[in-house]
Amino acid sequence: MSLPEFKVLRPRTTADAIALLAEHAGNIRILAGGTDLLPSMQQKLFEPQYVLDIRRIAELKGIRPQPDGGVEIGALTPLTDIERSDVLHSRYPVLPEAAKTVASPVLRNMGTIGGNICLDTRCLWYNQSLQWRKSCGFCIKKDGDLCHVAPGGSKCWAVFSGDTPAALLCLDAEIEIANSSGVRRAKLADFYTGIGDDYRKLQSDELVTRVLLPASSSGYRGVYRKLRVRGSIDYPLAGVAVVLKRSNGHIEDARVALTAVNPAPVLVKGATELLAGKRLTEESAEAAGVLAARTAKPLTTSALTPEYRREMIRVFTKRAVLALAAES
Ligand SMILES: Cc1cc2nc3c(=O)[nH]c(=O)nc-3n(C[C@H](O)[C@H](O)[C@H](O)COP(=O)(O)OP(=O)(O)OC[C@H]3O[C@@H](n4cnc5c(N)ncnc54)[C@H](O)[C@@H]3O)c2cc1C
Ligand code: SF4
Repeated sequence: MSLPEFKVLRPRTTADAIALLAEHAGNIRILAGGTDLLPSMQQKLFEPQYVLDIRRIAELKGIRPQPDGGVEIGALTPLTDIERSDVLHSRYPVLPEAAKTVASPVLRNMGTIGGNICLDTRCLWYNQSLQWRKSCGFCIKKDGDLCHVAPGGSKCWAVFSGDTPAALLCLDAEIEIANSSGVRRAKLADFYTGIGDDYRKLQSDELVTRVLLPASSSGYRGVYRKLRVRGSIDYPLAGVAVVLKRSNGHIEDARVALTAVNPAPVLVKGATELLAGKRLTEESAEAAGVLAARTAKPLTTSALTPEYRREMIRVFTKRAVLALAAES
C-alpha cells in the first residue's frame, strides 16, 4: 500500500510547530513516531496535505523529576525510555509496566507517549485498506453514514486501543496542550470524549507537549494486564491497570482503569470506595473484577468476542489485585 502525496514540515522548536499547525489547520497531521499515523495513511484513512514531523524538537523529549516530587514527561519521549526509566519504576511502576506491553521493541523505540495518548480509535471495519472499505461499505468513522457494529445507530463505537492511558488514568495524570493562544492543562480523564469518530478533545492546531504525573500518585504499587492475540506485538483487546497504596495490611487507596473495551480509556467508578479500607483478599479482588467487568462495554469492533473480552476484564482485574497482595 502506497502513501498518499503530502509535504513534510520539520520544525525544530515547539513555537515553530504551533505556528505551522495554525497556518495549515484542518489540512495537517502531527507525526511523532509515525508507528500508527503512517500505516493509517497507507490505508488512506488520513490524506493530509501536510505532515508535521515533530521528531527534531528536542524540548519535547525527556523524563524530568520535579522539585515537588512529581514527574514531567515530554510528549515525544519514546516508550522504550519510559519502560526503562529508573525514576518511573520507583515512583510510578504501573506506567513502565504498561509501556513495555505496547507493540514490539522496535515499535517502542519509535513510538512516543504523546502518540500513545493521541492514538486513533480502532475497528475491524475501519482499519482496513481503501479497497476493503469500498467493497464492504464505508461507515460513520470515515466516508459513510452507517455503523456495521451497531446497525441502526448513529454513533461510532470504535475502540480506544492504547496501553499507557489506562496506567496514566490510575496515576491521575494531566497533559499540557499548546496552541497559538498559549498552553492549557487538562486531566487526562477529561481528554477523551467516549465517541469513536471524535475521540479526543484536541483541535487540529493543537499539540500535546507534556504529560504531568502528580506527586500525590507517587509510591502507588501498580500492575497492568493485557489481552492480545499475539503476545509479541498486538494491540490490546482488553487492558486493566490497577494501582493501590496499603497501610497496616489494609488498602488505603486504590484505582482501576480499563482500555480497549470502550471508545475511551476509563477509570472504573466505585473501585476506590469498594477497595479502600479492606484487606487484600480473594473476595475483595473478585468484587473489583466484577465491578470492572460491568464498566467494560466491548462490541464487535475487535478480534475475539465481546463476551470473552469482558470476562477477561474481570479475570485480569482480580489477578492484578491479587498480584499486588502478593507483592508486599
Ligand atoms: C503492529 C503494531 C502493533 C501495535 N501495537 C500496539 C499496542 O500493543 N499498544 C498500543 O498502545 N499501541 C500499539 N500500536 C500503535 C503505536 O505503535 C503506539 O500506540 C505508539 O505509541 C504511537 O506513538 P507514535 O509516536 O508512533 O504515534 P504517531 O503514529 O506518530 O501518532 C499517532 C496519533 O497521535 C497524533 N500525535 C502524536 N503525537 C502527538 C502530539 N504530541 N500531540 C498531538 N497529537 C499527536 C498523531 O497525529 C496521530 O494521530 C501498534 C502499532 C503497530 C503498527
Ligand atoms: S464502530 Fe461502526 S462507525 Fe465506528 S468504525 Fe466501526 S463500523 Fe465504523
